[in-house]
Amino acid sequence: MPVKQAEFFVSNSDPAKCPRPDRPEYAFIGRSNVGKSSLINMLTSRASLAKISGKPGKTQLINHFIIDNQWYLVDLPGYGYAQVSKTEREKFAALIDGYLTSRPNLLCIFVLVDSRIEPQKIDLDFMENLGDRGLPFVIVFTKTEKLGAVKLQATLNNYRARLLETWEEVPQIFITSAVTAAGREDILSFIRPLNEEYEKSAGVKRFKPGK
Ligand code: GDP
Repeated sequence: MPVKQAEFFVSNSDPAKCPRPDRPEYAFIGRSNVGKSSLINMLTSRASLAKISGKPGKTQLINHFIIDNQWYLVDLPGYGYAQVSKTEREKFAALIDGYLTSRPNLLCIFVLVDSRIEPQKIDLDFMENLGDRGLPFVIVFTKTEKLGAVKLQATLNNYRARLLETWEEVPQIFITSAVTAAGREDILSFIRPLNEEYEKSAGVKRFKPGK
């Protein structure tokens, strides 16, 4: 079932000002240029909900989108810009850190990786960090239409082997392409039951309205 409604909700440079955590949310993050904006547009079937990157590394904002009036899709700033200063990197780390530690409604983080390149330390370190905090995440391979089936399988095997060096179990991996819309239904079908579960569970009750 495709997304029916997708709207921009709010942008924040301060995690404390993010919307009240009153519905489930899913965050999308990855290195700059990984294809995050394209993936968000593809998932929501909107041509330009998220901006396709022009000048990378500019304003670092946490963007909340509201989907089907039911859940938040969160576009986190890209990491790993080559040209940013140490201060900028530290600001970024504080922003992401603040976000990750303040969202009890964050049900899963989608870590995007470019399927055409070798596993990158910065991505693996980021996942490691999520693991250390006990935050649930999955991996999204982007731009996969660029690889043939054989190359894609080899890439997957290689990535899994690399993950198994540090993880006991390989996290779930989604194969996507913003060009062919591959993976859209897989991701939406992954999100839906989590939303239902959240609504049935204490998740809703955990949040006290009127804060
Ligand atoms: P972001 O910086 O992570 O938000 O990445 P963008 O969505 O702006 O995409 C970066 C570049 O990769 C752009 O030139 C996109 O057109 C291209 N791109 C994104 N997704 C795909 C994809 O699935 N396939 C191909 N071939 N190119 C893609």
